[in-house]
Amino acid sequence: MEHSYLIKPLLDAVYPTIDYGKGIYLYDKEGKRYVDASSGAVTANIGHGVPEIIDAMVQQAKRVSFVYRSQFTSEAAEALAGKIAEQCVGSLNWSFFVNSGSEATETAMKIAIQHWQEKGVKTKNKILSRWVSYHGITLGALSMSGHTLRRARFVPLLEDFPSIQPPYCYRCPYNLEPTSCKFACATELENVIKKIGAEHIAAFIAEPVIGAAGGAISPPVGYFKVIKEICDHHQILFIADEVMTGFGRTGKMLACEHWGVEPDIVALGKGMGAGYAPIAAALVSNKVMEPILAGTKSIMSGHTLSANPQSCAVSLAVMEYLQNNRIIEQVELKGFYLSYHLQELKEEFSFIGDIRGKGLLIGIEFVQSVENKEPFPREDQITNKMIQLGANNGILLYPSAAGIDGIHGDAIILAPPLTISKDEIDELIILLRKTFLDFSNEIL
Ligand code: PLP
Repeated sequence: MEHSYLIKPLLDAVYPTIDYGKGIYLYDKEGKRYVDASSGAVTANIGHGVPEIIDAMVQQAKRVSFVYRSQFTSEAAEALAGKIAEQCVGSLNWSFFVNSGSEATETAMKIAIQHWQEKGVKTKNKILSRWVSYHGITLGALSMSGHTLRRARFVPLLEDFPSIQPPYCYRCPYNLEPTSCKFACATELENVIKKIGAEHIAAFIAEPVIGAAGGAISPPVGYFKVIKEICDHHQILFIADEVMTGFGRTGKMLACEHWGVEPDIVALGKGMGAGYAPIAAALVSNKVMEPILAGTKSIMSGHTLSANPQSCAVSLAVMEYLQNNRIIEQVELKGFYLSYHLQELKEEFSFIGDIRGKGLLIGIEFVQSVENKEPFPREDQITNKMIQLGANNGILLYPSAAGIDGIHGDAIILAPPLTISKDEIDELIILLRKTFLDFSNEIL
């Protein structure tokens, strides 16, 4: 009988079998080498096969891999929570550990609602979010996500949380210019809040840099200050979904730091375990915890594997590795170097419409015509073709949606391991250029 596992995106496609990974490279069973230019799904932030992480895994496994969080705490979980509190801005002193980014945003949403309930405000149950956003695949997280394609099949089961347009300056939803727009896309939040009534809204959630749904859309400076002021003014909590951006991806521990904004709750994932173990977290500020600590003293959420020592030990080792090797502080410089070469490719290839992002989270949007920003027809499946050509050339790229409707637009994300060297960036660019040349010759 035919059999396979059901996680493959396309069951009728042939996937190479992976053999091993080292640094920024992955090797399949045929011996083919790939530059992991996307860290998988923006996850393998310190590269593959790092001995320090493997040692930490083995040491923890020799002691104990699993304990149930209602019966024991562990040194690994306590140390990880302490280190996160120390390294994150503001008073994000409370960590609730889960196993995936979707669980982290779901937990963040539930903690926000619980915060208001414990304060005696029972009506604040709604979450606001943006279109062209992605907060996870489970139904609660998908309710918050403004990812049109991923929502489509499940709309009848979802809440209508996406309420405002994103700061997508390349395709401004208001046809304005960043220099004179006065952050129309942020002040729209004020109008929506007035319409719904702040007494019904628990929180607003946003990705600091929009990932999967938009192709690394970074907001103009000042945008998040306006958002946070509106939230504070209306007593609405601000949740930063840093599942993709957190743990140094943009050059700061949390991307919100770039704009001097302190979130009330943060969702972390991906880079937290850097692919070595499934771990994610909702970080909660003192302000949000206060009524809970004075009330039930318990978060009404949790999973069997929450805070398991094995994953916590991995995440702690990842943090130590980042710190000992001063990796995060080099990210912005590496990002500039990579972007400089990408701009050269933009001069060369007429289908590159926009290059954007922050640190080592960079998006490239493809268009039929640079002049009028006309997207390729959806049926041409340009993003998928680019990903396939990249894989043929030995470079792994991350597909992203693009376009203000989230349907008509093509983009890829470049997000190599933060440990990438200058020579390796040069190699990445050579393979990317080869991929773009193949695209010009074979597809256009
Ligand atoms: N939030 C953001 C910003 C993400 O990019 C993702 C995944 O891509 C998620 C949440 C969901 O994370 P996971 O796939 O680990 O459930």
